Order: sequence, then structure tokens, then C-alpha cells
Amino acid sequence: MERVRAAKRAPGDDPLFALTPEDLNTLWEKEKAQSRIQANPRDSTIPCCVTTRKTDNGYARLHIPAEMRKKYPSMPDYGNGGKNNMRVFAHRLVLLATGRRPERSTCDASHLCGNASCIEPTHLVWERHPVNMDRHGCHVHGWFEVCPHTPPCLARVPFQEPDRP
Ligand SMILES: [Zn+2]
Ligand SMILES: [Zn+2]
Repeated sequence: MERVRAAKRAPGDDPLFALTPEDLNTLWEKEKAQSRIQANPRDSTIPCCVTTRKTDNGYARLHIPAEMRKKYPSMPDYGNGGKNNMRVFAHRLVLLATGRRPERSTCDASHLCGNASCIEPTHLVWERHPVNMDRHGCHVHGWFEVCPHTPPCLARVPFQEPDRP
């Protein structure tokens, strides 16, 4: 019997990219059912929507169900169905389910709210990795007086008083 060697997953090689809008939506609905609204203690106008499941370093992750994967014969079998390698990120799913494709496949799904487990669509954008990393300057480190990012981070550090006449 021929042994099929597991494909190695390259950065930006996300099985989610192969799914139809219908399947993306099915998975997103499932994620929403396992999430709850959480007011951002910092500065967002629309509250975060965070997973109620155990997170993976703060991130919500999910499996593409086996029955769904069968519909995509060309989808590489990363890790021969090994449970870890077929796990995908919920926040990447949400961007794709809301019709947003990255400029390039290596872009990060970035949180404007700095809340890793958030799947609120308006808190998510595709952007290049260094920009995503630079947002830590706003969300964590307080490097900037005014957020220099486009679109702006939702949690601005430090908090700015409104102008007074
Ligand atoms: Zn959020
Ligand atoms: Zn920022």
C-alpha cells in the first residue's frame, strides 16, 4: 500500500481559503453560537464577541469537519488528518465569511481591538504581518500618543481626553 506523506502547511496556506461562501457561513454560525458579547474594557464602540470555548494562546480555533472536507478533494490533507494541523483560526474564518479576501495569502487577520479571541467582524482586517505586530504598540505597550495605524486601533493607548474649549 502506498503511503501518502502528509503535506507540510506553509505560512499563508490556509485550508479556509478553499471553502465556498456557504460553508464559511455554516462554520461562522457555529462559532457565533459558541461566543458571547463582551464589552471591551478599553475603547471600542461595538463590543467584542468572544469565544466561550477554551482558547489556544487566546485565539479561538476550530476544525473543518471531516464531512465538509470531503467536498474538497484538492484540499491538502495536512498531517494526514492529524487533529492539530487541520485546525484553523476563527477570526480568519470570519473575515472570509464576510466576503473579505486578503491582498496576499500571507497577510495576517488582525484585531483592531487587540482581543485575540474576538470574532466581531468590524474588529477584524487583513493586513501585512509587520503592521499587525506594530498594533501591539497601541494595545499592549503604549508606545504612541496617537494611534498611527490605518484603520485605527479600537483601543487607543493612552486614553485621550476630548478637546475642551
Ligand atoms: Zn473585538
Ligand atoms: Zn494603533
